[in-house]
Amino acid sequence: MSFLSLLGLGTKATATTATAATTPAAGAPAPFRLTDAEWQKRLSPAAYRVLRREGTEAAGSSPLNAEKRKGFYHCAGCDLPLFSSDTKYESGTGWPSFHTPLPGALGTKTDFKLILPRTEYHCARCEGHQGHVFNDGPRPSGKRYCNNGVALKFVPAST
Ligand SMILES: [Zn+2]
Repeated sequence: MSFLSLLGLGTKATATTATAATTPAAGAPAPFRLTDAEWQKRLSPAAYRVLRREGTEAAGSSPLNAEKRKGFYHCAGCDLPLFSSDTKYESGTGWPSFHTPLPGALGTKTDFKLILPRTEYHCARCEGHQGHVFNDGPRPSGKRYCNNGVALKFVPAST
């Protein structure tokens, strides 16, 4: 193989990766489905427990609590962007908190795990559990999306 063809392949691969990583969510995404065994293989045990079993990580355990950089928070299951850093705030709960998700990124359902109903929310593409939404958030939405850090992947904005 010549040097020039190697160079061409390298350039093409880089361009494709960059485009895929910077496209935010828009509208209803196509579903991303795997079997339970495939999820177990794909995810860390901690991420699997939250995303696929609706577990909750220990408060204060996520490094993302202290994350202050600009960027996007993607679903750790399927990489769909769910939140922008512009909507993250310090809620004092010990979980990464946001007041507004990206359009079309989340689905919700009501759960009764703590007897009192709570609104569960999940990634709209892979249906991985992310957290619960409460009505005590800051303006403009008044909502608090209380998210498990292990269910998210932070992607810093390229400068
Ligand atoms: Zn997902």
